[in-house]
Amino acid sequence: MVRKHVTGPFVIPIRDIAHRSGEMREHTIEAPAPEKWGEGLVSVAEGEPVVIDVRLESVHEGILVSGEIDTEYAGICSRCLIDIAEGLKVEFQELFAYPGEEETDFEVQDDHVDLETLVREAVVLSLPFQPVCQPDCPGLDPVTGERLAENAGTPQSGPLDPRWAALQDFTTSHDDDAPRPRG
Ligand SMILES: [Zn+2]
Repeated sequence: MVRKHVTGPFVIPIRDIAHRSGEMREHTIEAPAPEKWGEGLVSVAEGEPVVIDVRLESVHEGILVSGEIDTEYAGICSRCLIDIAEGLKVEFQELFAYPGEEETDFEVQDDHVDLETLVREAVVLSLPFQPVCQPDCPGLDPVTGERLAENAGTPQSGPLDPRWAALQDFTTSHDDDAPRPRG
């Protein structure tokens, strides 16, 4: 029988622990993402380094795979639209069952497990749906379309729209915790 030679960035041989419950192996994989992961405002770019610390435990039903993925996503802030890039760490655990043993999403194939689908799904699910450049990103000025974060701290110039000025007075008097003289 000619065994098909399987390669892939996230393929791990398990021949030495298959059907030996209790055996355990640890691996560190480092490989570029084989394609772009994620379709939202941010994604892991094709070629982005992906590091996976993975533990393989031989159990009765198959191989229990657990570990942590460490990579980086990039894209744009959902509020002010500037480019952002953030580190991403994702933990995962899945059972790769022996064929015919159990209904699972993942199966042991011949003498290896291929983590690519598992890793891609774990990464995509953990990408922020509404990414921000900073937790309190103020977004864009609704009038000028300029990024408000860059103007933070600079005094407002020019006359305010009277409606906003009135609102500002209202807000200020209510945010002021100091006792006010009774009128
Ligand atoms: Zn932003």
